[in-house]
Parts: sequence; C-alpha cells; structure tokens
Amino acid sequence: MSAVKKVLVVGGGIGGQAVAIAFAKKGVSVEIAERLEEYNVYGVGIIQIVKDV
Ligand SMILES: Cc1cc2nc3c(=O)[nH]c(=O)nc-3n(C[C@H](O)[C@H](O)[C@H](O)COP(=O)(O)OP(=O)(O)OC[C@H]3O[C@@H](n4cnc5c(N)ncnc54)[C@H](O)[C@@H]3O)c2cc1C
Repeated sequence: MSAVKKVLVVGGGIGGQAVAIAFAKKGVSVEIAERLEEYNVYGVGIIQIVKDV
C-alpha cells in the first residue's frame, strides 16, 4: 500500500490527466489544478495517420 494518500497535479493536459488516473488507480486521492477555465488541447488529434507515408 502506498504511503502517499493525496496528490496535487498541476496542469490538466494529457500528461497531468494520465498521472491523475495512474494515482487514482492506486487508490490515491487526486486533485488537478488547471489554470485555464476551459481545457484546450493545442495539438488536437493526438494520434494522426498521415496519408502516403
Ligand atoms: C500547435 C500544436 C500542434 C500539436 N499537434 C500535435 C499532434 O498533432 N499530435 C500530437 O501528438 N501532439 C501534438 N502537439 C503536442 C501536444 O499538444 C503536446 O505534446 C501535449 O499536449 C503535451 O501534453 P502535456 O500534458 O505535457 O502539456 P499541455 O497539454 O500543455 O498541458 C499542460 C497544462 O498545464 C496547465 N498549466 C501550466 N502551468 C500551470 C500552472 N502554473 N498552474 C495550473 N495549470 C498550469 C496548462 O494550462 C495546460 O492545460 C501539438 C502542440 C502544438 C502546440
């Protein structure tokens, strides 16, 4: 069992969300602090399949 009970993840991008999910799956209470009111992924379309490559 983890000694860590609660973590604060700063930044709710894909990295922060992945970390938050990983902690939550281990039973750790997670809070995400995101400075933007609305989540905005600049690189929308994380997985892209480009034609003819
Ligand atoms: C124009 C552009 C196009 C892209 N296109 C692609 C693509 O086609 N495919 C692809 O795979 N990747 C693409 N990317 C890259 C992709 O967007 C990034 O690799 C990915 O978003 C990084 O995720 P991250 O969680 O590390 O950071 P971010 O997505 O940048 O998330 C960081 C979050 O932390 C928040 N934050 C920062 N500082 C603080 C603070 N002090 N307090 C609270 N919150 C804070 C920010 O507001 C942000 O929401 C592109 C990037 C750009 C800029």
